Amino acid sequence: MADSLADPLVDQVRSGRRAAVSRAITLVESSRPEHRAQARALLAALPAPEQAAVRVGISGVPGVGKSTFIEALGVRLTDAGHRVAVLAVDPSSQRTGGSVLGDKTRMPRLATDERAFIRASPSAGTLGGVARATSQAMLVLEAAAYDVVLVETVGVGQSETTVAGMVDTFLFLSLARTGDQLQGIKRGILELADVIAVNKADDVGGVDREAEARSAARELGGALRMVRGREGAPSVVTCSGLTGAGVDDVWQEVLDHRARLGDEGLTEKRAHQQLDFAWALVRDELEQRLRRSEPVRRVRGEVRDLVLRGELPAVAAADRILAAYDDAEPGAEVD
Ligand code: GDP
Repeated sequence: MADSLADPLVDQVRSGRRAAVSRAITLVESSRPEHRAQARALLAALPAPEQAAVRVGISGVPGVGKSTFIEALGVRLTDAGHRVAVLAVDPSSQRTGGSVLGDKTRMPRLATDERAFIRASPSAGTLGGVARATSQAMLVLEAAAYDVVLVETVGVGQSETTVAGMVDTFLFLSLARTGDQLQGIKRGILELADVIAVNKADDVGGVDREAEARSAARELGGALRMVRGREGAPSVVTCSGLTGAGVDDVWQEVLDHRARLGDEGLTEKRAHQQLDFAWALVRDELEQRLRRSEPVRRVRGEVRDLVLRGELPAVAAADRILAAYDDAEPGAEVD
């Protein structure tokens, strides 16, 4: 029963048929209990890929040039014979800074490329939910022989940390503007990034920003070596997604980072990511259950009033909520 939908899909996904890949991803994105069971059956039936795909996270503020860069890089990779998938992680909403991540119209050449597959972010939802969908979509894509998976995200909240936890290499696109350089780039990003590319290093629009970009890259590289040490510091390069200049170099830096990890290092990194992700899913699910719990809902209003009136300390309030939840839990649903 559970695999009624999954069964015929397995072969079609394996043969790399786009419509089947699309349907399989829709299935793993679904939060409906019966779909979850089918998704599990599908994932269990999919063969392990012969070679681990290159998983790369790509991030940067809206307008930094992510989609232009991904289009340029993606077309280069498919021309070289790769099969490239683009996924987006954007839990905040479908729109970020006016652009929809992973939107096909933002990557017109890649969208019509036989060897490419583009998937917009699942609409809204919790970060854990979107991450669950994305990481399972990656498994579907790898079974369908996509050997490069680019995960696009935007410099907002926790989504970068989440994406960094799903990919082998995290690429951060930056701009040369000084304000954006050190203060603008959040500390967390500096710690997450494996490769940084100062984008728009070109003279499109009549302003020559190449020299500016190069000196920004040098400065940033120096600062990072001070913070993370010579060994741990990400490489900083310049590129232009619009002209294509330096895009190959950025990709080479990504491959070099992966090569430095080595086969064993990569296996270990992915294993740890799986463990962290398992716990993240548990936390996410528990929070959902807490939110849905009827007994918790019943005490919530009263607890709120008491705490706001100063009649119930926070610790006692937490105990009340947890007691209500525990009472309900023995019968909690399992999908
Ligand atoms: P995203 O929001 O990060 O995906 O950024 P987009 O790729 O949509 O680009 C935002 C704007 O910057 C668009 O007007 C692009 O034409 C422009 N842009 C993108 N990449 C480059 C680049 O390499 N050089 C220049 N000069 N402009 C670029």
